[in-house]
Amino acid sequence: MKKNQPTGNEIRQSYIDFFIGKDHKFVRSSSLVPGGDSTLLFTNAGMVQFKDVFLGIDNREYTRATNSQKCMRVAGKHNDLDDVGQDDTHHTFFEMMGNWSFGDYYKKEAISYAWELLTEIWKLPKDRLYATVFEDEQNLIPTDEEAVEHWLNQPGFNKDRLFYIGRKDNFWEMGDTGPCGPCSEIHYDLRPEEGPVTDKSILDTDRFTEIWNLVFIQYNRKGPDQLDPLPSTHIDTGLGLDRVAAILQNTDSNYRTDLLFPLVEAVQELSGDTDQEREDNFTPYRVIADHARAASFLIADGVVPGNLGRNYICRMIIRRGYRFGGHLGLHSPFLAKIASVVINLYQEAYPELKQNRKIILDTITREEEQFQQTLENATLHLEDMLDEVQNQKQTLLPGEKAANLYTTYGMPLEITRDIARERNLQVDEEGFHKAMDQHRIISGAGNAMGDVGGEEVEFFRNLLTSLQENGKLDSGGVGYHPYDTLTRQGKILALIVDGEEVQSAGEKKSVQVILPETPFYIEAGGQVSDTGIIEGKNWKIVVNDLYQPAAGLIVHQGTILQGKPKVGDAATVKVDQVRRMDIKRNHTGTHLLHAALDQIIGEHARQAGSLVAPDHLRFDFTHNQALSAEEIKSVEEEVNRRILEDHPLAITHKPLQEAIDEGARALFGEKYGDTVRTIKMGDFSYELCGGTHCERSSEVGLFLITSEGSTAAGIRRIEAVTGRYAYQLVQTRFEELKTAAQYLSTGLDQVAYQTNALLELQKMAEKSRDRLLKKLAIIELNQALENLEEVNGIKLLTTIVEDADLDTLRVMADRFRQRVSEKGVVLLAAVIDGSPRMIAAVTEDMIQIGIKAGDLVQHVATQVGGGGGGRPGLAEAGGKDPEKLPEALDSVAAWIKGKLQ
Ligand code: ATP
Ligand code: MG
Repeated sequence: MKKNQPTGNEIRQSYIDFFIGKDHKFVRSSSLVPGGDSTLLFTNAGMVQFKDVFLGIDNREYTRATNSQKCMRVAGKHNDLDDVGQDDTHHTFFEMMGNWSFGDYYKKEAISYAWELLTEIWKLPKDRLYATVFEDEQNLIPTDEEAVEHWLNQPGFNKDRLFYIGRKDNFWEMGDTGPCGPCSEIHYDLRPEEGPVTDKSILDTDRFTEIWNLVFIQYNRKGPDQLDPLPSTHIDTGLGLDRVAAILQNTDSNYRTDLLFPLVEAVQELSGDTDQEREDNFTPYRVIADHARAASFLIADGVVPGNLGRNYICRMIIRRGYRFGGHLGLHSPFLAKIASVVINLYQEAYPELKQNRKIILDTITREEEQFQQTLENATLHLEDMLDEVQNQKQTLLPGEKAANLYTTYGMPLEITRDIARERNLQVDEEGFHKAMDQHRIISGAGNAMGDVGGEEVEFFRNLLTSLQENGKLDSGGVGYHPYDTLTRQGKILALIVDGEEVQSAGEKKSVQVILPETPFYIEAGGQVSDTGIIEGKNWKIVVNDLYQPAAGLIVHQGTILQGKPKVGDAATVKVDQVRRMDIKRNHTGTHLLHAALDQIIGEHARQAGSLVAPDHLRFDFTHNQALSAEEIKSVEEEVNRRILEDHPLAITHKPLQEAIDEGARALFGEKYGDTVRTIKMGDFSYELCGGTHCERSSEVGLFLITSEGSTAAGIRRIEAVTGRYAYQLVQTRFEELKTAAQYLSTGLDQVAYQTNALLELQKMAEKSRDRLLKKLAIIELNQALENLEEVNGIKLLTTIVEDADLDTLRVMADRFRQRVSEKGVVLLAAVIDGSPRMIAAVTEDMIQIGIKAGDLVQHVATQVGGGGGGRPGLAEAGGKDPEKLPEALDSVAAWIKGKLQ
C-alpha cells in the first residue's frame, strides 16, 4: 500500500461520513446472528436488520440510514464458500457498506449519491465505471427507464457504459412474496486497456468487479404473477468494503489490501515461505486469512463451534482453515495467531472483538486441538474410500460415507468435498444431508430472507390503517403500557374470529381482541407474555397470549369465558398480577445471575439465550466447562447477597451508543432501536432490557439454582427459581428432610451425621460378615479334607462354596495344597454376582503326570459357557451359566481318569 492511499478503516469511515453528510443516521452493524429470525442462519446483507421496516411491521425514528454491516455468506441462498480461496473478491465474512431510504429519497438521489461518492470523493476514473439496469427478459415487468434516465444525467457518465440485464442479477426479491424491485449494479473495469466493452457478458468475467448494488424497492409481490406497486418506495444498497479497498489501494486482490494482507503476512511468518513461494501457492493463504477473520467475528457474536446450524458453520470454518494450514506445513494449532491480528485490525470499528479477545483465541485453539487428533485418521480413511470410488470407476462418494466421516471423526462435509475435489471426485451432498438429517445442519437456511408474514400481515396492516382512518387509533397505534399499571380501560376496537373481523362473538369462542391500549407485556428479550382477562358488562375473556403482527398493532389472543362481547363495548383489561410478580422476580433474578457469573466465572460468560417465565428462569451463557459445585454455590450466594443488599433498580432511556459506551450489556442476537431502555443495579449490573422488573433487588426474595448443564458445545445453562417458587422448593425439601429425620428417629440437624454413622455401621457389618464367611469356608474345607473322594489313588475335592468371593476360594485352594502335599486335585467354585467363578489347584506330582490346573479349569469352564486358564499348579476361570456348575463339577473325576489312561 502506498502512502497516499486510504486505509480500509478510512474508506469505511469516509463512506459513513459521506452519507451522514446527506442526512443519514449512522446505525451500528447488527449481529451476524439475525435478531428474532430463526429461519435465516446469518446476516447476509445490510438490509437484514431493516427487513421489518420494508415489510411495514416495524417503524424507525429516521427515514435515512447508513452503516457497515457484518455479513456471512456461507450457507443457504447466499453461499460463496466455493469462491473463497479461488478468486480475489469473495469472502465468507465481509463488510457490506450500505445506505437506506425508508419511503424517503428514491432512484434519483440513490444514483447520484453513488456517483458522487465514487467519482468525487473516491475519485475513481469515470471511464472505468459501468452500470446495469433492469430489463425483464420475460417482458412482464417494465424496464427500469427511470434508472436509465438518472444514470444518463450523471456528470461524465457515458451511455455506452450502461447495460440492460435480466431478472437473475437485476431484480431483487426478498422471498416468494413481499417487497421487491429492480436493481442497478455498479461494476469497475480492472483492465480498461482491453478496449471498449460491447458485450455485456464481459461484466461477468474477471475483467470486472461488482462493487455496489442499488436496490429500488417499489413492488409488493403477492404471487408468482402479481406485483402490486408499494404505497411508499425504498432504497437499499450494498457495497463490498474489501472490493472498494482493493480498487482504491490499487491492488489486484482483496487479499492484498490492508484489510487482509496483514493476515496473509502473519501466515507467511508461520510457514516460513519466501514471497515467491507464497505467490505460487496463494490459495491456502487466502483461505486461512478469510476463515480466521470469519471465525473471529462469529465467536465475538456468540457463535461457538458445535454440531448444529450456526455452530456447525463456526466449527467448519475453523477446521477448514486449520486443514489449509497443513498445505503450508502447519500441523499444530496456529489460527489463534492469525485471529489476534484480526482483532487488532478491526477492534476499533468492532469493539466486540476486543471485548471477547480471550474467548475468541481460546475457542479457536481448542477447536483446532480437537480436530488435530482426528484429522489424520479421517484423511486416511477418506483416501481409502476415494480409492474405492475410483477403482469402481465412479466419481461420486456416497453421502452416508461422508456423513460417517463427520459423525466419527468430526470431518465437515466441506473438507471432505475439498479433498474429493483435489482428486476430481464429488460428494453426494444430497445423500449426506439425508444421512445427517437428525443433525439438521445448514437446513432451515433455504429461504435467505426467512418467513415474510404474507396474508396475515396484510390483513392486520389493513385493519390498522382502517382503525387509524376512522380515528379509533392515532398514528402511534395501540398504546403499549406494560410498565406502569396492570389495568387499563377502553372500548373494544375490533374482534377477530378465524381470521375474519366480526361484530360480536359468543361463549367458548377463540377470539382476537384489539383495544386502544394494553397493560400486557408482549414476549420479548426472553420474558414471556402476560396473561390475564378482559371483561365488560356480562362478559369475560381469558387472555392467554399476545402478539404484534404489524407495527403499532397489538393483538390479545383469548377465549370467551362467558357472555357475548361486542365491538364498541367498554372493557377493562387486567394483567394476572400474581403471575406478573413471579415473572418480574425472575427477570431481576436473571440480571443478578448474569452479574454474578461475570464476577465469579469471568467476563466471557456472556448471555447466549434466556427464558423468563413465572415458575423459573433459564440462562444460557458461553463457557467451556461445567461449573464446579463450589462455583455454583458461590454464584448462588452472590445473587442472594445482592438481593439482601436491597439495591434499587434504576431504569433510564438513552441513546444506544451512549449506553454501550457506558458498558451496558446488550443481549446477543437482539435488535435494538435508537433509544434504549437500560436497567442498572449498583455498580455490578447494567443491561439493555425492555423487560418488567422489581423496584428493588430484595423483592426477588430468595434465589436458588436448580440445575446446571450444557446445551451445546461451549454453552452452559443454569436454571433457577425465585420468590414463591424458591419458597416452595425449600418447603418440599424441608418435608423430605423431616421424613428422613423421622426414619432415623433424630432431629433435623442430626440427619446428615446419623445417615453417615448408619452407613459406617453398615460397612463394618459387611466386613465382619465377610470375615465370618471366610472362616466358615475354612471350617467346611477342613471337614471335607477329612473324607476326601479318591480317584485312582488321587485325593479329589470338588465343591461349590456358598457366599464365597474369589479371595475366599484362593485361601481355600492354598489351604488344600498345604494339607494335601501329594496326589491332590481341588476344584472350588462359587457363584459371584450371578456368574460362576472357579479355581483349580493340583499338587506338584500331578503336573508331572499331565494333570494340570490350567487344563482342568478349562475343562470345567467350557461346560458353564466360559473359559480361562493359568499356571499348571493354580488356575482360575469364569463362566456364564451357574445352573450347569454341579454337572460340570461331577465330570472332574472322569476327566482325571481319562488323563491317567
Ligand atoms: P457477486 O455477484 O460478486 O457475488 P452479489 O450480486 O452476490 O455479488 P450483492 O448481494 O448485490 O452481491 O451484495 C452487494 C455487494 O456486496 C456486492 O456488490 C459486493 O461488493 C459485495 N459482496 C457480495 N458478496 C461478497 C462476498 N462474498 N465477499 C465480499 N464482498 C461481497
Ligand atoms: Mg454473490
